[in-house]
Amino acid sequence: MNANRGDLPLTIGALRRRPEFAEERLGRRSVKDEMRENLIRKLQAGEQLFPGILGYDDTVIPQLVNAILARHNFILLGLRGQAKSRLLRSLTGLLDPWIPAVAGCEIHDNPYRPLCRACRELVAEMGEQTPLVWLAPEQRYVEKLATPDVTIADIIGDMDPIKAARRGRDISDELTIHYGLLPRANRGIFAINELPDLAAKIQVGLFNIMQEGDVQIKGYPVRMPLDVLLVFTANPEDYTARGKIITPLKDRIGSEIRTHYPLSIEHGIAITRQEAWTERPSPVRIHVPEFLREAVEQLAFLAREDKRVDRRSGVSQRLPISLLENVVSNAERRALRTGEPLAVPRALDLYAALPAITGKLELEYEGELKGAEAVARDLVRAAIGRVHSRVLDGANLNPIVQWFELGGTLKLEEYAPASALLKRLSVIQNLFDHLPALGVAPGDPPALRLAAAEFILEGLYAHRRISRSEEVGYSAAERRREPSLEEGRRQGLRRQLN
Ligand SMILES: [Zn+2]
Repeated sequence: MNANRGDLPLTIGALRRRPEFAEERLGRRSVKDEMRENLIRKLQAGEQLFPGILGYDDTVIPQLVNAILARHNFILLGLRGQAKSRLLRSLTGLLDPWIPAVAGCEIHDNPYRPLCRACRELVAEMGEQTPLVWLAPEQRYVEKLATPDVTIADIIGDMDPIKAARRGRDISDELTIHYGLLPRANRGIFAINELPDLAAKIQVGLFNIMQEGDVQIKGYPVRMPLDVLLVFTANPEDYTARGKIITPLKDRIGSEIRTHYPLSIEHGIAITRQEAWTERPSPVRIHVPEFLREAVEQLAFLAREDKRVDRRSGVSQRLPISLLENVVSNAERRALRTGEPLAVPRALDLYAALPAITGKLELEYEGELKGAEAVARDLVRAAIGRVHSRVLDGANLNPIVQWFELGGTLKLEEYAPASALLKRLSVIQNLFDHLPALGVAPGDPPALRLAAAEFILEGLYAHRRISRSEEVGYSAAERRREPSLEEGRRQGLRRQLN
Protein backbone atom coordinates (compact mmCIF):
# COMPACT_ATOMS: atom_id res chain seq x y z
CA MET A 1 0.00 0.00 0.00
CA ASN A 2 2.87 2.32 0.61
CA ALA A 3 4.55 1.15 -2.56
CA ASN A 4 5.69 3.89 -4.88
CA ARG A 5 4.93 3.34 -8.49
CA GLY A 6 8.45 2.31 -9.47
CA ASP A 7 8.42 -1.02 -7.70
CA LEU A 8 4.87 -2.11 -8.45
CA PRO A 9 4.69 -5.62 -9.94
CA LEU A 10 3.78 -5.79 -13.59
CA THR A 11 2.50 -9.35 -13.91
CA ILE A 12 0.03 -11.44 -11.95
CA GLY A 13 2.86 -13.76 -10.92
CA ALA A 14 4.90 -10.94 -9.44
CA LEU A 15 1.80 -9.51 -7.80
CA ARG A 16 1.06 -12.76 -6.07
CA ARG A 17 4.49 -12.82 -4.45
CA ARG A 18 3.98 -9.49 -2.71
CA PRO A 19 2.18 -10.01 0.61
CA GLU A 20 0.45 -6.63 0.53
CA PHE A 21 -1.04 -7.49 -2.87
CA ALA A 22 -1.67 -11.17 -2.17
CA GLU A 23 -4.79 -12.84 -3.47
CA GLU A 24 -6.11 -13.37 0.07
CA ARG A 25 -6.01 -9.62 0.54
CA LEU A 26 -7.02 -8.18 -2.83
CA GLY A 27 -8.93 -11.04 -4.41
CA ARG A 28 -12.24 -10.45 -2.70
CA ARG A 29 -11.88 -7.00 -1.26
CA SER A 30 -14.56 -4.69 -2.65
CA VAL A 31 -14.10 -0.99 -3.19
CA LYS A 32 -16.37 -0.41 -0.20
CA ASP A 33 -14.14 -2.64 1.95
CA GLU A 34 -11.11 -0.77 0.72
CA MET A 35 -12.60 2.62 1.58
CA ARG A 36 -13.77 1.38 4.93
CA GLU A 37 -10.27 0.09 5.74
CA ASN A 38 -8.59 3.33 4.73
CA LEU A 39 -11.19 5.38 6.57
CA ILE A 40 -10.67 3.41 9.76
CA ARG A 41 -6.93 3.96 9.51
CA LYS A 42 -7.42 7.70 9.03
CA LEU A 43 -9.85 7.91 11.93
CA GLN A 44 -7.41 6.10 14.20
CA ALA A 45 -4.58 8.36 13.12
CA GLY A 46 -6.75 11.45 13.66
CA GLU A 47 -6.14 12.55 10.08
CA GLN A 48 -8.19 15.22 8.40
CA LEU A 49 -10.66 13.23 6.29
CA PHE A 50 -11.81 15.73 3.71
CA PRO A 51 -9.28 18.53 3.38
CA GLY A 52 -10.72 21.77 2.03
CA ILE A 53 -14.31 20.98 3.03
CA LEU A 54 -15.24 23.66 5.55
CA GLY A 55 -18.16 23.95 7.93
CA TYR A 56 -19.32 20.32 7.77
CA ASP A 57 -17.24 18.90 10.62
CA ASP A 58 -20.13 18.44 13.03
CA THR A 59 -22.96 17.83 10.59
CA VAL A 60 -22.32 16.29 7.20
CA ILE A 61 -18.98 14.59 7.72
CA PRO A 62 -19.98 12.37 10.67
CA GLN A 63 -22.95 11.12 8.64
CA LEU A 64 -20.76 10.53 5.63
CA VAL A 65 -18.26 8.61 7.73
CA ASN A 66 -21.04 6.44 9.12
CA ALA A 67 -22.30 5.65 5.63
CA ILE A 68 -18.85 4.60 4.46
CA LEU A 69 -18.21 2.53 7.57
CA ALA A 70 -21.54 0.81 6.87
CA ARG A 71 -20.51 0.25 3.21
CA HIS A 72 -23.60 2.11 2.03
CA ASN A 73 -24.37 3.58 -1.32
CA PHE A 74 -25.55 7.04 -0.42
CA ILE A 75 -27.05 10.29 -1.63
CA LEU A 76 -26.25 13.87 -0.70
CA LEU A 77 -29.38 15.99 -0.59
CA GLY A 78 -28.90 19.68 -0.78
CA LEU A 79 -29.39 22.90 -2.68
CA ARG A 80 -26.97 24.10 -5.27
CA GLY A 81 -23.57 25.34 -4.28
CA GLN A 82 -23.31 23.28 -1.09
CA ALA A 83 -20.11 21.51 -2.14
CA LYS A 84 -21.89 18.24 -2.88
CA SER A 85 -19.86 17.40 -5.98
CA ARG A 86 -16.72 18.45 -4.28
CA LEU A 87 -17.46 16.21 -1.33
CA LEU A 88 -18.05 13.28 -3.66
CA ARG A 89 -14.83 13.92 -5.55
CA SER A 90 -12.90 14.04 -2.32
CA LEU A 91 -13.97 10.45 -1.61
CA THR A 92 -11.03 9.40 -3.80
CA GLY A 93 -8.90 10.30 -0.77
CA LEU A 94 -10.17 7.07 0.78
CA LEU A 95 -8.98 4.85 -2.07
CA ASP A 96 -5.65 3.04 -2.12
CA PRO A 97 -2.84 5.00 -3.76
CA TRP A 98 -2.56 2.26 -6.41
CA ILE A 99 -4.51 -0.85 -7.26
CA PRO A 100 -3.63 -3.42 -9.92
CA ALA A 101 -5.89 -4.18 -12.89
CA VAL A 102 -5.57 -6.41 -15.92
CA ALA A 103 -3.77 -4.40 -18.59
CA GLY A 104 -6.03 -3.18 -21.38
CA CYS A 105 -9.27 -3.99 -19.57
CA GLU A 106 -11.95 -1.38 -20.06
CA ILE A 107 -13.61 -2.24 -16.78
CA HIS A 108 -10.44 -2.38 -14.68
CA ASP A 109 -10.75 -6.06 -13.91
CA ASN A 110 -9.28 -7.43 -10.73
CA PRO A 111 -6.36 -9.64 -11.86
CA TYR A 112 -7.42 -12.33 -9.40
CA ARG A 113 -11.08 -12.33 -10.44
CA PRO A 114 -11.59 -10.95 -13.92
CA LEU A 115 -15.21 -10.37 -14.92
CA CYS A 116 -15.04 -9.71 -18.61
CA ARG A 117 -14.59 -12.42 -21.13
CA ALA A 118 -11.56 -10.80 -22.76
CA CYS A 119 -9.68 -10.85 -19.45
CA ARG A 120 -10.76 -14.35 -18.57
CA GLU A 121 -9.41 -15.51 -21.93
CA LEU A 122 -6.22 -13.52 -21.45
CA VAL A 123 -5.54 -14.93 -17.99
CA ALA A 124 -6.25 -18.45 -19.22
CA GLU A 125 -3.73 -17.94 -22.01
CA MET A 126 -0.96 -16.06 -20.22
CA GLY A 127 -1.37 -17.22 -16.65
CA GLU A 128 1.18 -15.71 -14.29
CA GLN A 129 2.59 -13.63 -17.13
CA THR A 130 -0.67 -11.69 -17.56
CA PRO A 131 0.33 -8.01 -17.68
CA LEU A 132 -0.99 -5.50 -15.16
CA VAL A 133 -1.61 -1.78 -15.02
CA TRP A 134 -1.87 0.29 -11.85
CA LEU A 135 -4.69 2.66 -11.20
CA ALA A 136 -4.47 5.88 -9.23
CA PRO A 137 -7.53 7.08 -7.27
CA GLU A 138 -8.48 9.71 -9.87
CA GLN A 139 -8.75 7.00 -12.51
CA ARG A 140 -11.31 5.25 -10.37
CA TYR A 141 -13.80 8.09 -10.06
CA VAL A 142 -16.50 8.49 -12.70
CA GLU A 143 -19.03 11.29 -12.57
CA LYS A 144 -22.12 11.95 -14.62
CA LEU A 145 -24.63 14.78 -14.53
CA ALA A 146 -28.06 13.25 -15.00
CA THR A 147 -30.15 14.88 -17.69
CA PRO A 148 -33.30 13.54 -19.30
CA ASP A 149 -31.41 12.65 -22.49
CA VAL A 150 -28.93 10.32 -20.77
CA THR A 151 -29.47 6.85 -22.23
CA ILE A 152 -29.01 3.30 -21.05
CA ALA A 153 -26.16 3.07 -23.55
CA ASP A 154 -24.41 6.00 -21.85
CA ILE A 155 -24.68 4.55 -18.39
CA ILE A 156 -24.77 0.79 -18.79
CA GLY A 157 -23.58 0.07 -22.29
CA ASP A 158 -24.46 -0.99 -25.78
CA MET A 159 -23.31 -3.38 -28.44
CA ASP A 160 -20.70 -1.96 -30.72
CA PRO A 161 -21.21 -2.96 -34.36
CA ILE A 162 -17.81 -1.61 -35.38
CA LYS A 163 -16.06 -3.71 -32.80
CA ALA A 164 -18.08 -6.67 -34.00
CA ALA A 165 -17.13 -6.10 -37.62
CA ARG A 166 -13.47 -5.54 -36.81
CA ARG A 167 -13.22 -8.67 -34.80
CA GLY A 168 -15.37 -10.62 -37.19
CA ARG A 169 -17.56 -11.70 -34.35
CA ASP A 170 -21.20 -12.36 -33.93
CA ILE A 171 -23.08 -9.27 -32.82
CA SER A 172 -24.39 -11.11 -29.77
CA ASP A 173 -20.86 -11.91 -28.58
CA GLU A 174 -19.86 -10.41 -25.26
CA LEU A 175 -16.65 -9.08 -26.78
CA THR A 176 -18.63 -6.63 -28.91
CA ILE A 177 -19.97 -4.74 -25.91
CA HIS A 178 -19.31 -1.06 -25.70
CA TYR A 179 -19.26 -0.39 -22.01
CA GLY A 180 -21.11 2.56 -20.50
CA LEU A 181 -19.88 4.72 -17.65
CA LEU A 182 -21.02 2.42 -14.88
CA PRO A 183 -19.04 -0.67 -15.92
CA ARG A 184 -16.08 1.63 -16.55
CA ALA A 185 -16.35 2.70 -12.93
CA ASN A 186 -15.88 -0.91 -11.86
CA ARG A 187 -13.70 -1.10 -8.73
CA GLY A 188 -14.22 2.57 -8.18
CA ILE A 189 -16.77 5.25 -7.38
CA PHE A 190 -19.63 6.15 -9.69
CA ALA A 191 -21.25 9.49 -8.94
CA ILE A 192 -24.50 10.67 -10.50
CA ASN A 193 -25.42 14.28 -9.94
CA GLU A 194 -29.09 15.29 -9.93
CA LEU A 195 -30.36 11.74 -9.75
CA PRO A 196 -34.07 12.66 -10.12
CA ASP A 197 -33.38 13.80 -13.68
CA LEU A 198 -32.41 10.29 -14.67
CA ALA A 199 -35.03 8.40 -16.72
CA ALA A 200 -36.91 5.70 -14.82
CA LYS A 201 -35.55 2.85 -16.91
CA ILE A 202 -31.98 3.86 -16.13
CA GLN A 203 -32.89 4.01 -12.47
CA VAL A 204 -34.06 0.42 -12.88
CA GLY A 205 -30.66 -0.42 -14.34
CA LEU A 206 -28.96 1.10 -11.31
CA PHE A 207 -31.26 -0.77 -9.02
CA ASN A 208 -30.32 -4.06 -10.68
CA ILE A 209 -26.68 -3.33 -10.03
CA MET A 210 -27.30 -2.57 -6.38
CA GLN A 211 -29.63 -5.50 -5.92
CA GLU A 212 -28.03 -8.28 -7.89
CA GLY A 213 -24.70 -6.86 -8.93
CA ASP A 214 -26.11 -7.50 -12.32
CA VAL A 215 -25.82 -5.58 -15.56
CA GLN A 216 -28.06 -6.22 -18.53
CA ILE A 217 -26.65 -4.85 -21.72
CA LYS A 218 -29.32 -4.67 -24.40
CA GLY A 219 -30.50 -8.19 -23.98
CA TYR A 220 -26.99 -9.64 -23.73
CA PRO A 221 -26.97 -12.61 -21.43
CA VAL A 222 -24.17 -11.02 -19.39
CA ARG A 223 -23.96 -11.30 -15.70
CA MET A 224 -21.42 -8.88 -14.44
CA PRO A 225 -21.28 -8.42 -10.70
CA LEU A 226 -19.64 -5.02 -10.80
CA ASP A 227 -17.86 -3.69 -7.75
CA VAL A 228 -18.87 -0.05 -7.45
CA LEU A 229 -19.66 2.48 -4.77
CA LEU A 230 -22.69 4.35 -6.05
CA VAL A 231 -23.10 7.90 -4.82
CA PHE A 232 -25.66 10.47 -5.84
CA THR A 233 -26.69 14.06 -5.35
CA ALA A 234 -30.12 15.63 -5.60
CA ASN A 235 -32.09 18.70 -4.73
CA PRO A 236 -34.17 17.64 -1.69
CA GLU A 237 -37.49 18.74 -3.17
CA ASP A 238 -36.91 16.93 -6.45
CA TYR A 239 -35.84 13.85 -4.58
CA THR A 240 -38.88 13.65 -2.37
CA ALA A 241 -41.34 14.62 -5.11
CA ARG A 242 -43.57 11.67 -5.86
CA GLY A 243 -42.64 9.66 -8.92
CA LYS A 244 -39.21 11.16 -9.47
CA ILE A 245 -37.25 8.27 -8.02
CA ILE A 246 -38.38 4.69 -8.40
CA THR A 247 -39.11 3.35 -4.94
CA PRO A 248 -36.91 0.24 -5.08
CA LEU A 249 -33.92 2.39 -5.95
CA LYS A 250 -34.63 4.78 -3.10
CA ASP A 251 -34.92 1.80 -0.83
CA ARG A 252 -31.46 0.62 -1.85
CA ILE A 253 -29.70 3.89 -1.07
CA GLY A 254 -28.31 3.20 2.37
CA SER A 255 -27.95 6.75 3.66
CA GLU A 256 -29.50 10.09 2.84
CA ILE A 257 -27.24 12.89 3.96
CA ARG A 258 -28.40 16.49 4.06
CA THR A 259 -25.91 19.19 3.15
CA HIS A 260 -26.39 22.84 4.03
CA TYR A 261 -25.11 26.33 3.47
CA PRO A 262 -22.60 27.73 5.97
CA LEU A 263 -24.30 27.96 9.34
CA SER A 264 -22.36 31.03 10.38
CA ILE A 265 -20.97 34.07 8.59
CA GLU A 266 -17.51 33.02 9.79
CA HIS A 267 -17.76 29.67 8.02
CA GLY A 268 -19.03 31.38 4.90
CA ILE A 269 -16.14 33.85 4.94
CA ALA A 270 -13.66 30.99 5.39
CA ILE A 271 -15.07 29.08 2.42
CA THR A 272 -15.14 32.15 0.21
CA ARG A 273 -11.62 33.07 1.28
CA GLN A 274 -10.44 29.62 0.29
CA GLU A 275 -12.24 29.50 -3.03
CA ALA A 276 -12.20 33.03 -4.45
CA TRP A 277 -9.34 34.01 -6.70
CA THR A 278 -8.20 37.15 -4.96
CA GLU A 279 -4.49 36.58 -4.64
CA ARG A 280 -3.55 37.21 -8.21
CA PRO A 281 -0.33 38.08 -9.93
CA SER A 282 -0.87 41.76 -10.64
CA PRO A 283 1.22 44.92 -10.89
CA VAL A 284 -0.87 46.32 -8.03
CA ARG A 285 -0.99 44.91 -4.54
CA ILE A 286 -4.48 43.82 -3.48
CA HIS A 287 -5.78 44.01 0.03
CA VAL A 288 -9.35 43.01 0.88
CA PRO A 289 -10.52 44.51 4.19
CA GLU A 290 -12.31 42.15 6.54
CA PHE A 291 -15.43 44.33 6.71
CA LEU A 292 -15.80 43.95 2.97
CA ARG A 293 -15.41 40.18 3.10
CA GLU A 294 -18.11 40.17 5.73
CA ALA A 295 -20.41 42.29 3.56
CA VAL A 296 -19.93 39.90 0.63
CA GLU A 297 -20.86 36.94 2.80
CA GLN A 298 -23.70 38.76 4.47
CA LEU A 299 -25.16 39.43 1.07
CA ALA A 300 -25.38 35.68 0.38
CA PHE A 301 -27.00 35.08 3.78
CA LEU A 302 -29.56 37.83 3.13
CA ALA A 303 -30.29 36.48 -0.35
CA ARG A 304 -30.99 33.05 1.15
CA GLU A 305 -33.62 34.58 3.44
CA ASP A 306 -35.09 36.95 0.89
CA LYS A 307 -38.72 36.33 -0.01
CA ARG A 308 -38.08 37.48 -3.57
CA VAL A 309 -35.52 34.71 -4.09
CA ASP A 310 -36.61 31.15 -4.78
CA ARG A 311 -35.67 29.11 -1.74
CA ARG A 312 -36.17 25.74 -3.36
CA SER A 313 -33.23 26.32 -5.64
CA GLY A 314 -31.18 28.14 -3.04
CA VAL A 315 -28.36 30.63 -3.33
CA SER A 316 -25.11 28.92 -4.16
CA GLN A 317 -21.90 29.54 -2.28
CA ARG A 318 -20.59 30.40 -5.73
CA LEU A 319 -22.42 33.73 -5.38
CA PRO A 320 -20.18 35.20 -2.66
CA ILE A 321 -17.14 33.58 -4.31
CA SER A 322 -17.80 35.19 -7.72
CA LEU A 323 -18.90 38.40 -6.07
CA LEU A 324 -15.67 38.76 -4.12
CA GLU A 325 -13.65 38.02 -7.26
CA ASN A 326 -15.53 40.68 -9.15
CA VAL A 327 -15.22 43.19 -6.32
CA VAL A 328 -11.47 42.64 -6.30
CA SER A 329 -11.37 43.04 -10.08
CA ASN A 330 -13.10 46.39 -9.91
CA ALA A 331 -10.63 47.63 -7.29
CA GLU A 332 -7.76 46.27 -9.35
CA ARG A 333 -9.07 47.97 -12.49
CA ARG A 334 -9.39 51.27 -10.65
CA ALA A 335 -5.86 51.07 -9.25
CA LEU A 336 -4.46 50.18 -12.67
CA ARG A 337 -6.21 53.19 -14.15
CA THR A 338 -5.21 55.67 -11.44
CA GLY A 339 -1.71 54.28 -11.11
CA GLU A 340 -2.05 53.60 -7.39
CA PRO A 341 0.18 50.82 -6.04
CA LEU A 342 -2.44 49.37 -3.69
CA ALA A 343 -5.95 48.23 -4.61
CA VAL A 344 -8.41 48.13 -1.73
CA PRO A 345 -12.00 47.21 -2.59
CA ARG A 346 -14.60 49.79 -1.55
CA ALA A 347 -18.34 49.73 -1.04
CA LEU A 348 -18.84 51.06 -4.54
CA ASP A 349 -17.09 47.96 -5.88
CA LEU A 350 -19.93 45.86 -4.47
CA TYR A 351 -22.37 47.76 -6.61
CA ALA A 352 -20.04 47.45 -9.59
CA ALA A 353 -20.08 43.67 -9.12
CA LEU A 354 -23.81 43.16 -9.71
CA PRO A 355 -23.05 40.95 -12.75
CA ALA A 356 -21.69 38.38 -10.29
CA ILE A 357 -24.96 38.38 -8.37
CA THR A 358 -27.85 38.67 -10.80
CA GLY A 359 -27.29 35.41 -12.66
CA LYS A 360 -27.14 33.43 -9.43
CA LEU A 361 -30.52 34.45 -8.08
CA GLU A 362 -33.57 32.45 -9.10
CA LEU A 363 -36.31 34.97 -8.50
CA GLU A 364 -39.86 34.47 -7.34
CA TYR A 365 -42.63 36.35 -9.13
CA GLU A 366 -42.28 39.35 -6.85
CA GLY A 367 -38.57 39.51 -7.54
CA GLU A 368 -39.12 39.11 -11.28
CA LEU A 369 -41.38 42.15 -11.21
CA LYS A 370 -38.69 44.20 -9.57
CA GLY A 371 -35.92 42.89 -11.75
CA ALA A 372 -32.75 41.01 -10.81
CA GLU A 373 -30.61 44.10 -10.80
CA ALA A 374 -32.86 46.02 -8.42
CA VAL A 375 -33.03 43.01 -6.09
CA ALA A 376 -29.24 42.68 -6.20
CA ARG A 377 -28.83 46.38 -5.46
CA ASP A 378 -31.15 46.08 -2.46
CA LEU A 379 -29.14 43.14 -1.22
CA VAL A 380 -25.87 45.05 -1.46
CA ARG A 381 -27.34 47.91 0.49
CA ALA A 382 -28.84 45.64 3.15
CA ALA A 383 -25.60 43.66 3.49
CA ILE A 384 -23.58 46.80 4.07
CA GLY A 385 -26.21 47.89 6.59
CA ARG A 386 -25.91 44.63 8.52
CA VAL A 387 -22.13 44.74 8.74
CA HIS A 388 -22.26 48.43 9.61
CA SER A 389 -24.67 47.72 12.48
CA ARG A 390 -22.49 44.94 13.81
CA VAL A 391 -19.10 46.66 13.72
CA LEU A 392 -20.38 50.07 14.80
CA ASP A 393 -22.82 48.77 17.38
CA GLY A 394 -23.20 51.44 20.06
CA ALA A 395 -21.07 54.01 18.26
CA ASN A 396 -22.45 57.53 18.20
CA LEU A 397 -22.60 58.49 14.54
CA ASN A 398 -24.84 61.51 15.08
CA PRO A 399 -22.06 64.06 14.54
CA ILE A 400 -21.46 62.61 11.08
CA VAL A 401 -25.14 62.71 10.23
CA GLN A 402 -25.31 66.28 11.54
CA TRP A 403 -22.50 67.37 9.24
CA PHE A 404 -24.72 66.45 6.32
CA GLU A 405 -27.81 67.93 7.95
CA LEU A 406 -25.99 71.22 8.23
CA GLY A 407 -25.77 71.20 4.46
CA GLY A 408 -22.59 69.28 3.83
CA THR A 409 -22.39 67.18 0.67
CA LEU A 410 -19.60 65.00 -0.52
CA LYS A 411 -18.99 63.05 -3.67
CA LEU A 412 -16.34 60.36 -3.76
CA GLU A 413 -15.37 60.03 -7.39
CA GLU A 414 -14.32 56.63 -8.48
CA TYR A 415 -11.01 57.56 -10.06
CA ALA A 416 -9.67 60.24 -7.75
CA PRO A 417 -6.52 59.31 -5.78
CA ALA A 418 -7.23 57.85 -2.36
CA SER A 419 -5.22 60.52 -0.54
CA ALA A 420 -7.22 63.33 -2.21
CA LEU A 421 -10.51 61.70 -1.25
CA LEU A 422 -9.32 61.16 2.29
CA LYS A 423 -8.48 64.80 2.58
CA ARG A 424 -12.01 65.71 1.58
CA LEU A 425 -13.45 63.22 4.06
CA SER A 426 -11.37 64.72 6.85
CA VAL A 427 -13.74 67.67 7.10
CA ILE A 428 -16.50 65.41 8.42
CA GLN A 429 -16.29 65.60 12.19
CA ASN A 430 -15.57 62.35 14.03
CA LEU A 431 -15.62 60.22 10.89
CA PHE A 432 -12.07 58.93 11.23
CA ASP A 433 -12.58 58.20 14.93
CA HIS A 434 -14.62 55.16 13.93
CA LEU A 435 -12.06 53.57 11.63
CA PRO A 436 -10.55 51.35 14.37
CA ALA A 437 -13.95 49.64 14.74
CA LEU A 438 -13.47 48.51 11.16
CA GLY A 439 -9.99 47.24 11.92
CA VAL A 440 -8.26 50.19 10.31
CA ALA A 441 -5.54 52.16 12.09
CA PRO A 442 -4.52 55.81 11.52
CA GLY A 443 -1.20 54.68 10.07
CA ASP A 444 -2.76 52.40 7.46
CA PRO A 445 -2.43 53.20 3.75
CA PRO A 446 -4.80 55.88 2.38
CA ALA A 447 -6.63 53.39 0.15
CA LEU A 448 -7.57 51.28 3.16
CA ARG A 449 -8.61 54.27 5.28
CA LEU A 450 -10.66 55.57 2.38
CA ALA A 451 -12.43 52.22 1.99
CA ALA A 452 -13.28 52.17 5.70
CA ALA A 453 -14.49 55.78 5.82
CA GLU A 454 -16.62 55.30 2.74
CA PHE A 455 -18.05 52.13 4.25
CA ILE A 456 -19.23 54.12 7.28
CA LEU A 457 -21.02 56.61 5.04
CA GLU A 458 -22.42 53.84 2.91
CA GLY A 459 -23.77 52.19 6.07
CA LEU A 460 -25.49 55.42 7.08
CA TYR A 461 -26.98 55.50 3.61
CA ALA A 462 -28.09 51.86 4.01
CA HIS A 463 -29.84 52.85 7.26
CA ARG A 464 -31.38 55.87 5.49
CA ARG A 465 -29.75 58.32 7.85
CA ILE A 466 -28.14 60.13 4.93
CA SER A 467 -28.84 60.06 1.19
CA ARG A 468 -26.69 59.38 -1.79
CA SER A 469 -27.24 60.24 -5.43
CA GLU A 470 -25.30 60.10 -8.66
CA GLU A 471 -25.12 63.90 -8.93
CA VAL A 472 -24.35 65.17 -5.44
CA GLY A 473 -22.94 62.10 -3.75
CA TYR A 474 -23.68 61.86 -0.03
CA SER A 475 -26.02 64.45 1.49
CA ALA A 476 -28.59 64.86 4.25
CA ALA A 477 -31.49 62.42 4.29
CA GLU A 478 -34.26 63.83 2.14
CA ARG A 479 -36.87 63.80 4.82
CA ARG A 480 -36.36 63.13 8.47
CA ARG A 481 -37.81 59.77 9.25
CA GLU A 482 -39.45 59.15 12.58
CA PRO A 483 -36.68 58.42 15.07
CA SER A 484 -36.89 54.90 16.42
CA LEU A 485 -37.80 54.45 20.07
CA GLU A 486 -34.20 53.68 20.91
CA GLU A 487 -32.87 56.75 19.11
CA GLY A 488 -35.57 58.94 20.53
CA ARG A 489 -34.58 57.85 23.99
CA ARG A 490 -30.93 58.54 23.26
CA GLN A 491 -31.71 61.98 21.88
CA GLY A 492 -33.83 62.77 24.90
CA LEU A 493 -30.98 61.70 27.13
CA ARG A 494 -28.57 63.95 25.28
CA ARG A 495 -30.91 66.88 25.65
CA GLN A 496 -30.97 66.30 29.37
CA LEU A 497 -27.20 66.22 29.48
CA ASN A 498 -26.78 69.42 27.48
ZN1 LIG B 1 -11.56 -7.31 -18.26
